[in-house]
Amino acid sequence: MNTTLLKLKKLQEVDDLVRARHKAMAESRTLLAVTSTKLKSGENNLAEIRRLQRDEEAKHRDLEGELKILAVKKKSNEDRLATFKNNIEYIALIKEANFLAKRVDEIENKALVILEQLEKRAAVIDTMELALTQIRDAITSQVADFKADEVASQNYLADLTTQRVALTEAIEPNLIKRYEEIAETKGGLVVTAALNSLCLACRMSFPPQIYNELQRNQKISVCPNCGRFLYWPDHNDFQPQTKLKP
Ligand SMILES: [Zn+2]
Repeated sequence: MNTTLLKLKKLQEVDDLVRARHKAMAESRTLLAVTSTKLKSGENNLAEIRRLQRDEEAKHRDLEGELKILAVKKKSNEDRLATFKNNIEYIALIKEANFLAKRVDEIENKALVILEQLEKRAAVIDTMELALTQIRDAITSQVADFKADEVASQNYLADLTTQRVALTEAIEPNLIKRYEEIAETKGGLVVTAALNSLCLACRMSFPPQIYNELQRNQKISVCPNCGRFLYWPDHNDFQPQTKLKP
């Protein structure tokens, strides 16, 4: 049994777990940032639509004020029409009555259009508020998950660091040096399985002699193309029941 290769393989597994956990934590942070941006943008949109609503409400109030003034004028016109003194005054009063009626009509139509817009916008505001509440709830839950994950991750990573230190101390320094160099240049994948005469990391085939070595598993073999440490997964040493003795 080549325990050094088993330890290197275990080191690779530990490093893969560390990387996977860092990636998951980064993804959680990204998710939280995306949700927070969504909330901010939603809040800005809501503030803008509320501003429009306030402006339109003010316009509607102005129009209602104008209608009240016109109603007073209309009443005065009707009173004077009941007591006009001559034809000229009558014609002037009728002209004024027509003008007032037309004006009232115009303003009532305008007020109605605005009222419809106010009602539609109020419904939109309700929907937006509901959506924002849901986003805030999602953030609360994501923050809670993130905090819990962070504590769990710290413990998990500390445990993996302990395992890593033990493994690196149990492997010859020159191999560790080579491991770290390959990890640095090959995206972290250093120990790889071989299928027949094929390196599964770089997908290049290697000479049968190396395949024979792998089947014996008595020495450390490296891929002549990518330089990674190779192992043959069908060898008994790499079966799941094999226990690595420290
Ligand atoms: Zn290779």
